[in-house]
Amino acid sequence: MSAILQDKTIVVMGVANNRSIAWGITKSLHNAGAKLIFTYRQERSKQKLEKLLEKNDIEPQMVVACDVEDDDSIKQAFQEIGETNGTIHGLVHSVAFANTDELQGEYADTSRDGYLTAQNISAYSLVAVTREARKLMTEGGGIVTQTYLGAERVVPNYNVMGVAKAALEASVRYLAEDVGKDGVRVNAVSAGPIRTLSAKGVSGFNEKMSVIEEKAPLRRQVDQDQVGDATMFLLSDLARGVTGEVLHVDSGFHIVA
Ligand code: NDP
Repeated sequence: MSAILQDKTIVVMGVANNRSIAWGITKSLHNAGAKLIFTYRQERSKQKLEKLLEKNDIEPQMVVACDVEDDDSIKQAFQEIGETNGTIHGLVHSVAFANTDELQGEYADTSRDGYLTAQNISAYSLVAVTREARKLMTEGGGIVTQTYLGAERVVPNYNVMGVAKAALEASVRYLAEDVGKDGVRVNAVSAGPIRTLSAKGVSGFNEKMSVIEEKAPLRRQVDQDQVGDATMFLLSDLARGVTGEVLHVDSGFHIVA
């Protein structure tokens, strides 16, 4: 049997370092035979990404800058991807941001600027990149974003990011309807807490992790590799009947009262 993503070209957004969820996804997609294109925002992330790729013997098709706060940057990135690679079959959106001071205390204290920043980078960005990516997905394909339980329930300190993730999950459904007619599927993975650079910004993150071991049906932590494999599944033809879905990869924590 040939590898599940053989001959598929997939764009991965959001590798900052080896702890990034997008890095776990990269390994799963590579093992499944995909050709990979990467986008980065900060130069520092690009350097870390290139070292990781080299160390793991992964040859990228392309590494291109893309700041999702900037429409021109998004347009330029996908134009370059199209010119160099032609058709793409998948997109991984693993990007979010909120100011650290909004990820503690009361949600009621969220500033207008803080609210808009979180929505802009963490939710609207999926809309903007889907619009550009679909132009290159001429053979259909899959788009997968990363969300968290704080979209559905009040998780202490997650605050403005929970509201941004709720918008992101609603966007998954509306976008799925729009691009479904072109054979493109849009889904989200809702991961349990994983220690990453971004997670460090959320107050009380350690407690969120320890409660998974105590209460989740599987009684163990979630890691980047589990999220990677679930994302790989959603991007593959194995999930050809699945769109507009939020798949929890959280050791089952979301079902427990
Ligand atoms: P990382 O910090 O490793 O990754 C976040 C990524 O977002 C970085 O690569 C960062 O790029 C990128 N980013 C931020 N702002 C922009 C921007 N304006 N333009 C382009 N890229 C940007 O953290 P995670 O791997 O934890 O986060 C990935 C996704 O997973 C996020 O959506 C997060 O909310 C979600 N998630 C995380 C969970 C966790 O517990 N860690 C649980 C559930 C979901 P750069 O560093 O170059 O700025």
